[in-house]
Amino acid sequence: MMTRRKALKTTGLALAASGMVATELKVRGQSAPAPAPATGPYQLPALPYAMDALEPHLDARTMEIHHDKHHAAYVANLNKAIAEFPELGKHPVGHLLADLNAVPEKIRTAVRNQGGGHYNHTLFWQMLSPKGGGEPKGGLAKAITQSFGNFADFQTKFNEAATKVFGSGWAWLVLDQGALKIEATANQDSPLSKGKTVLLGLDVWEHAYYLKYQNRRPDYIAAFWHVVNWDFVAELHEKPRAGR
Ligand code: MN
Repeated sequence: MMTRRKALKTTGLALAASGMVATELKVRGQSAPAPAPATGPYQLPALPYAMDALEPHLDARTMEIHHDKHHAAYVANLNKAIAEFPELGKHPVGHLLADLNAVPEKIRTAVRNQGGGHYNHTLFWQMLSPKGGGEPKGGLAKAITQSFGNFADFQTKFNEAATKVFGSGWAWLVLDQGALKIEATANQDSPLSKGKTVLLGLDVWEHAYYLKYQNRRPDYIAAFWHVVNWDFVAELHEKPRAGR
């Protein structure tokens, strides 16, 4: 069993990413109406663009339900779970996910699921942009070429991972001990809990696409590439990560 001190010890990206999330959202402004504030330490961040900004690739109604209902529910349920352990609620959710064993067993599954949902979606909104799409540049482009041969092969592999997720989950581009890897997780599990750094994620839960694409997940995956915010992904890739 980990000590509380260990539980509270910061791991680099978890905190860095959380800090960046807050900064990003402040800088980009509040283009969407703010949902009712959560009761508890964790808050639903506003979308960094309008609900319909990602049309026609991701439709406004899906974005609205996804953000205002699904993400909001993860935040509310995380707050509910953490209420008994207010000390834990003082820390960014990524910090808790990075060391789930240090979270009291009673709420560990809730933090993993609801906290994972909060963390993953908070990053996901920022990984999308109405000005997105195309290909990454600079160091990230070079790293992708080095790891996967070329950008098209990277996309093919990522698409395969996203298509193959059985049921609900995510496909990811992660940094694992400095190496770029593609992987998938079930439910709201975050690669962060396995010591990996999230660079790009795609939510393949049906709630992310069913209204517009119904059962056609491959069409949703193809649409996703038109709105990927490569600048944000590059920031995640380039930001120095201390202590990890
Ligand atoms: Mn989702």
